[in-house]
Amino acid sequence: MTTELTARHYDAVTAAWRLVMGEAFHYGIFTPAEAADPVAHLQRAAVRLNESLLAAAAPLPTGARVLDVGCGIGGPARWLAHTAQVQVRGLSNSPTGIATAQAITDVPGVDFVVADATANGQPDAAFDLVWVMESSHLMPDKPGLLRECARVLRPGGRLVLCDLLLHRPFELSDVFALRSELKCLDRAFGRAKMEPISAYAGWAEAAGLVVEATADWTVQTRPTLVAWAANARAHSVELYDLIGESGVDDLARACAILLDFWDQGRMGYGMLRAGKPA
Ligand code: SAH
Repeated sequence: MTTELTARHYDAVTAAWRLVMGEAFHYGIFTPAEAADPVAHLQRAAVRLNESLLAAAAPLPTGARVLDVGCGIGGPARWLAHTAQVQVRGLSNSPTGIATAQAITDVPGVDFVVADATANGQPDAAFDLVWVMESSHLMPDKPGLLRECARVLRPGGRLVLCDLLLHRPFELSDVFALRSELKCLDRAFGRAKMEPISAYAGWAEAAGLVVEATADWTVQTRPTLVAWAANARAHSVELYDLIGESGVDDLARACAILLDFWDQGRMGYGMLRAGKPA
């Protein structure tokens, strides 16, 4: 594809995801009351994921330096800078994502760089907090991610990470039986590899960090999938123009597949917090 075509494709996917997910391209944390009507409360719940990860990062002093690893188009970075009065550098391997983030961000103390999370080019000990929100599942080299996070943290600094997790490993027989489902997830959401929280904890410790807390947010995030599937159906006509009929089918089916995996205890969502010894 030419650059222009790639950009057009990205614009279409972004527009489609906006219809399905709203303005935040990550899961929500729903209260039990909100879970009764996931579509109505999707935006509030998506903000609550930011709030929940910020709470896990506390205390975070005003003016702290934060590195947002896998920053998308900068939504959480802008929110963090505004809410916690901190400086945020957003980092992602997507040049289009970073160009979009730069174009739509006008917040003092926020900037963006294109870099790979496993060789991020940032100086040693430069950040008080490293924030990894729903990007680690897309990174094949997770030990490398954790090493880079540890390297750029100042002594006494902290890492917080939240993401989709693997709760029960897939046996080879499962992989064969679920071939079509796994391919659909790959087409709809991109190449991903989920791991258990214990694996993240091990990589954090191996990188010299001390794991301070983990949390399981599987139940609280589940309504997200209900809302995305409902939005995909509700907006199917507009979505056809953006990502085609097969794209819409994949998206709706992928939400249903993940919902099954959530309910079968195969997959879920969680958080890890780790500190770099002072
Ligand atoms: N954290 C954001 C975006 C999540 S989408 C939010 O919550 O809204 C996942 C992001 O991870 C995208 O920006 C993608 O470009 C980025 N990403 C995936 N693999 C990466 C890698 N190896 N290095 C840096 N960024 C990566």
